[in-house]
Amino acid sequence: MEKSERQPLSRLASRRFTAVAACTVVAVLLLGGPSGAAGQGAADLIVNVTHRARALHPGEIVVLHVRTSEAPAALEASAFGAALRFFPAGPANVWSTLVGIDLDVEPGDHDVALRATAVDGSSAETDYTLAVEPKQFATRRLTVEPRYVDPPPEVVERILRERDQLAALFPVSTAVRYWRDGFVRPVPGRANSAFGRRSVFNGQPRNPHSGADFRAARGTPIKAPNDGVVVLATDLYFSGNVVIIDHGWGLYSFFAHLSAIDVAEGDRVRRGAVVGKVGATGRVTGAHLHWTVRLNDARVDPLSLLELIPDHGGGR
Ligand SMILES: [Zn+2]
Repeated sequence: MEKSERQPLSRLASRRFTAVAACTVVAVLLLGGPSGAAGQGAADLIVNVTHRARALHPGEIVVLHVRTSEAPAALEASAFGAALRFFPAGPANVWSTLVGIDLDVEPGDHDVALRATAVDGSSAETDYTLAVEPKQFATRRLTVEPRYVDPPPEVVERILRERDQLAALFPVSTAVRYWRDGFVRPVPGRANSAFGRRSVFNGQPRNPHSGADFRAARGTPIKAPNDGVVVLATDLYFSGNVVIIDHGWGLYSFFAHLSAIDVAEGDRVRRGAVVGKVGATGRVTGAHLHWTVRLNDARVDPLSLLELIPDHGGGR
């Protein structure tokens, strides 16, 4: 069977599955032998999909678990236009992947297309539906220096260049997965859960807040939440001194407003390594740590990452 071939039976099963999955998390039985007919192949692959998330809202991370009746030769999936990569979650037939629901995703049903291929070449396909529910984000009003609301003409070119630089960086999904085990908090302080808030600076609405702000005094060391490679360590107009860590497989940490940068681009960092210090550079009202997480270019709440893939103290 060609890998790209869709078996009619799989489609039928997918439709039935989608209808059921809309109301609850269920297991599904898919039959797709080399002949494409049920009961004829010796090794019909059974695929069971479940998910774990704080909620199915814009800005949340979803951990998808896929259990197959036998260790698969290949697992392929895509969600929100991005290809997903699977990491082992225990036995050889259980795999997980991370899905990011961007802040701008419209509420409603969004399918994760999934294909599992058995060692004998037979495969099963399904769509796993994520029923994204709307979320109202609060609005916050801040007062900052006027040059961060109406930038002087001489910096406009710089602002556009930096915007393009970041826009080109986050969609890149590095083929290596650097992150492993759990994610640690970059600073000890509490986050004020400002993710997703609509921001109004000096009376003018701006983009929603795509990170979490952590209370921390100027000079507090900032720890890498997990292993990765530093892909940007520089001064940006709005974000001040920044460090961006590529954790691999499309996952990035972006720290802003630093008073000091302690790493350089290209550095390999380990979880817990100090990458810089908390500050108040760029468009801020005071010292704090701004942490943005991007997953396959989706803007997601860093707190969902800490909660879903926590560090259990077994780290370095
Ligand atoms: Zn912030």
